[in-house]
Amino acid sequence: MASRPHRRWTTSEEAVLWEGAGTWGREWFLRRLPGRSWAACQMKAHRLFGSGLRRGSYSLAEVARFSGFTLSHLRRAGRALQQKWLRTGPRGTYLLTEDQREELLAWLRTDYWSKKHRLYTCTWCAGVRRPHRWGGLCSRCAPRYRARFRRAGLPSSPELLFPMLGGWLSGVALVEAQRACVQRRALPPALARVILRKARALCSNGAAGQG
Ligand SMILES: [Zn+2]
Repeated sequence: MASRPHRRWTTSEEAVLWEGAGTWGREWFLRRLPGRSWAACQMKAHRLFGSGLRRGSYSLAEVARFSGFTLSHLRRAGRALQQKWLRTGPRGTYLLTEDQREELLAWLRTDYWSKKHRLYTCTWCAGVRRPHRWGGLCSRCAPRYRARFRRAGLPSSPELLFPMLGGWLSGVALVEAQRACVQRRALPPALARVILRKARALCSNGAAGQG
């Protein structure tokens, strides 16, 4: 019997190592194994199954937590880079290798959803799954945006809308709307809402344009 300088590992503690190896990170183990250091966990894992706990993998949630990117950002980057992620089960956690994680983060640090507008998401739905179509809007939001303006009898194009803004907005809202138009972007949802509501009210009062 080898003498152990430290507290013996209990069966339930060993079970934690088996359960989390290759799936979970440092924090997960340390939370479940109070009193054990990370080094001790790693050494025990080597004795138990001949490899470290990490096995060079990170869960998608961990990568999101530590990088500050959302899960949808990471998934989009993964698709763009055509990464294949291991999974702990049919509906289980995605596992990324060290290399995959590095590649993803490098890609995301320089990536905008819309490079032209320097946006990380669609300005209307905040989504990243659909491609950018126009004015900071995705392929679903852009046609909807234009249709709404058309129905209200207003132009959706920034150049045509710009000179009309003063009739609908004032103060900070006007400046904000003008800025969006100058940048050739769709109006932010709240401002578009104000304008569309006023235009519709005007239409229903019988002052609709001649088209
Ligand atoms: Zn959208």
